[in-house]
Amino acid sequence: MTEDADARRIEIPAREGRAVRLAAGDRVRVVDPEGEQVADTWAFRADDVSEYASASHTRAFLDRLFPLPGEPFVTNRRRPILTLEDDRSPGRHDMLIAACDPSRYEGLGVEGWHASCQENLQLAMAELGHEDIEIPQPINLFMDIPVLEGDRLAWRAAGTKPGDHVVLRAEVDLVLAVSACPQDIIVINGGSPGPIVLELL
Ligand SMILES: [Zn+2]
Repeated sequence: MTEDADARRIEIPAREGRAVRLAAGDRVRVVDPEGEQVADTWAFRADDVSEYASASHTRAFLDRLFPLPGEPFVTNRRRPILTLEDDRSPGRHDMLIAACDPSRYEGLGVEGWHASCQENLQLAMAELGHEDIEIPQPINLFMDIPVLEGDRLAWRAAGTKPGDHVVLRAEVDLVLAVSACPQDIIVINGGSPGPIVLELL
């Protein structure tokens, strides 16, 4: 990481994604600058991208749907990869719903191309030389999908206010990818997708 201030702040435009390499111990603040915006987030081991943050393994590790501050996300090999260090948001973060992808938008009646978190992940990883990756279940920061009575799920607009954020710490050298979710058909981004900012601390 350089000392250049610009290099320490990565603005992800609405509907786009970015990936960044982090060394073990590095911390990143993921900010929703305008509010009501979901940030699909992934972490892959830098030396072996077939090992990545896994939602299902993390739930088994924690006995919870999502880590509390101070708790880790673990990989598909059950090793900590990221820690949720701080949470200055309503604390609603989904790890049940797959990333949006072209089939999702086709199913929602969109004709032609629509940006998607899956494509944003693939493009961002390819820019760093990782052309061939799995598409893990994302860590859907700020996405509010409560489990209701009868085990039904609800889709709600992200409850974030402008500037709300979380801080993540890398537990190993990794590649972090984040997509400013372009979903504008259902309500999760308040109907109008916005940007996400990464601040390398
Ligand atoms: Zn999405």
